[in-house]
Parts: sequence; structure tokens; C-alpha cells
Amino acid sequence: MSIERFEKPVYVTKPFLPSLDEFCDNLSEIWDNQWLTNDGPILKRFTRELSNHFESDNICLFNNGTLALQIGLQGMGISGEVITTPFTFVATTHALFWNKIRPIFVDIEPDYYTLDPDKVEAAITPWTSAILAVHVFGHPCRHNALADIARRHNLKLIYDAAHAFGVRIGNKSIVHFGDMNMFSFHATKLYHSIEGGMLSFKNSSLKKTFNYLKNFGFENEVEVVMPGTNAKMNEIQAVMGSMVLKHLDDIIEKRRQITELYRQRLCDVDGITLPRRLPDDITYNYCYMPVEVNEGEFSMSRDELHERLKEYNIFARRYFYPLVCDFPCYRSLAIDTPLTVARAVADSILTLPIYYDLSLDDVQKICDIIIEIGRNKEKEYLRSKKPLEVATGGI
Ligand SMILES: *Cc1c(COP(=O)(O)O)cnc(C)c1O
Repeated sequence: MSIERFEKPVYVTKPFLPSLDEFCDNLSEIWDNQWLTNDGPILKRFTRELSNHFESDNICLFNNGTLALQIGLQGMGISGEVITTPFTFVATTHALFWNKIRPIFVDIEPDYYTLDPDKVEAAITPWTSAILAVHVFGHPCRHNALADIARRHNLKLIYDAAHAFGVRIGNKSIVHFGDMNMFSFHATKLYHSIEGGMLSFKNSSLKKTFNYLKNFGFENEVEVVMPGTNAKMNEIQAVMGSMVLKHLDDIIEKRRQITELYRQRLCDVDGITLPRRLPDDITYNYCYMPVEVNEGEFSMSRDELHERLKEYNIFARRYFYPLVCDFPCYRSLAIDTPLTVARAVADSILTLPIYYDLSLDDVQKICDIIIEIGRNKEKEYLRSKKPLEVATGGI
């Protein structure tokens, strides 16, 4: 190894933390109020801030994204079968399962890894009630095509937008598309409130239902109107969420610089494919840095590169691998459509470190290391061939 390994581990992500002093200052409000959870004053204010940010009253906050999605599906009365993608984080599918909905896995598109609208229609049955698509890595799904299918077949169109905070389509925030969107504010996400989640929705009457469902179904002290659960966001989460929101533009700008540097350095590396650039009308959030590793051209498999990077103290991640449908708990589901693209992508994808505190120098170094690993392997390969060439030459 001619390039030295990183002294400290470089993980795929690292949470953004505002200054401790500022955080403590803001916490004092909680101590003054003596109010920790149950629709507290800070949560109310934070909800208004997000409403203003997104120019929408139709939002509801939760203690995490998974429960937000579970409650969203339940509140909308989704049942039977839902068409979804196997190339996602398991929580997308779990949220269906917890609602006793059967996930119908359909293949993804090769460019942006999102659900392929051209393959959705063939999977619709009399039991289909909705499409649950994922804006994978913040890449918006082909919304118009999906919305058209949903309209023609009378299906609800729901997005797992856990990765898409800050993304805009044209001059509209992505919260305004589809019948419902779920956002995750988990610490590892681009934008976070330690843990947290949000639903945005078209039908304003759903707000009341979601508020019941996240708070045991309480109407008042003595009346419970539906069998809800506990999925409330607390005051400390709201403090963090509100603070991180103020840094959002800065966070996205820093990630844009990191992404551009990765792209510049890796675009010519044989066997490394970068995601296709998004159309001009998309404002992206740069939340992940996925690359595809072509084993033949890079002279080593994705898994080998993943392992070799660890020797340099770089911990990239295989998002998303394996496909959700290949986990033991979902393996018994019959899959009618071939998942050719999803399988190929899951076997070649590697997401590289990207987070606010990652310096551009470190990004340079990560790129140097990837290039060196590839080059060394190529040399090894050529060396291993030499005796054979010599032998052949002798014949
Ligand atoms: C993170 C994530 C979730 C779950 O969100 P939590 O807030 O962690 O519960 C769901 N779907 C996708 C695609 C995610 O990345």
C-alpha cells in the first residue's frame, strides 16, 4: 500500500451535529417548560417551521420514518396488494407487512434505481390498492408515468421519500407529489432530528386520522376513537430537527461539492459507473454517493473492493444488498416478475462515504485509494498471466 490508510475509520455517513453550546442553549427551553413529549410547544413550533418550509399544512410528524409509513398506510386504508420495489431499505416492506398487505415486487430502472413504471401495469391485479415507490438515493421516481398508472387503475400513489428531503421537481418540493410521502429524519439521513419521521399528504382530512393513530387514538382524556399506537415525536427531537433545518442549505451545498469531486475523479475509472445525471428540472440533495462496480472492467468484484477499502479504514456500504425479497422473512413470497435490473444493481452497487464533515482532501484520498486498488489488482492480474505468456512464447 503506497497510500497510507486513514488513521480514523471513515464511515459511509456521519450525523450532522450543530454546535453543542447552541444545542444546550436551546434545550433550556425544555427545562423551562418542563414538557418533554405529547405535542409539546417546541414540536408545535417545529411543525409550523416545516409547514412554512414546504408551503404545506398537510404534514404530520412522528418519532421515526418507519412508524410514519406504517401509520400512513393504515390511515389511508391501504390493503390487499401493493406494488413496490425490492431495491430499498427493509422498512419499506416491513411497513406493508405490519399492515397485513402483500408486497408485489416489481423491477427497477437501471439509471436511477427507482421503480420502473413500464413494468408496474403488468403486476396490477384486482387486489392491488396502491403503488409504494421509493425515491432511491433521493433520485425522484418517474412521477408522471406512475401518477398516470395510478389514476387509470384507481390506485393510491405513495412514496417512501426517506432519502428525498430537500429534493425539488421543477419549482415544487417533492413533498407535494403523490397521495402521500414518508420522510425519515434518522440521524444517518441527510436531514435529521436524531430519530424522526414525517408524512406529507394530499387529502387534508387524513391529518386528524394520523394524529389519532400516533397517539393511541385519544380524542380526549376519556375517549379513544381508534386503536392507535405510540409514534409521537418528542421535544428533544423537535429541538434538534429545528436546529438542523437552519443548516439545510449548507449541508446540501457541502454534499454537492463532495459529489462533484467524486464524479470528477471517478468518471474515467474503468469499471466504475456513476449514476446518470438527473434531468435539469430536478434540484437534488446529494444524499448518497452510489457507484456501480463492473467486475470485468475494474478487475475485481464489488465485494472485493468493499473489503479492500476496509484495509484503508474506509467503510463503504452495499446499499441495497441483498434485495428485500431475498431476506429470509420475505423469501417465501411468490415473485411473478423477473427482477433482472434490481439483481444486477444490488450485486454491483457500493455507496461511498459522504457527509458534512468529510473534507474534500479526504474525498481526494478515497478516490486515490480506489484508483490504486484497481491498478494494483490489474498489475497482479498481468503478473499472474506472465508465465503463461512466456510458456506460450516458448512453444
Ligand atoms: C431510513 C429509511 C427508512 C426508515 O426510516 P427510519 O426513520 O429509520 O425509521 C425507510 N425507508 C428508507 C428507504 C430508508 O432509507
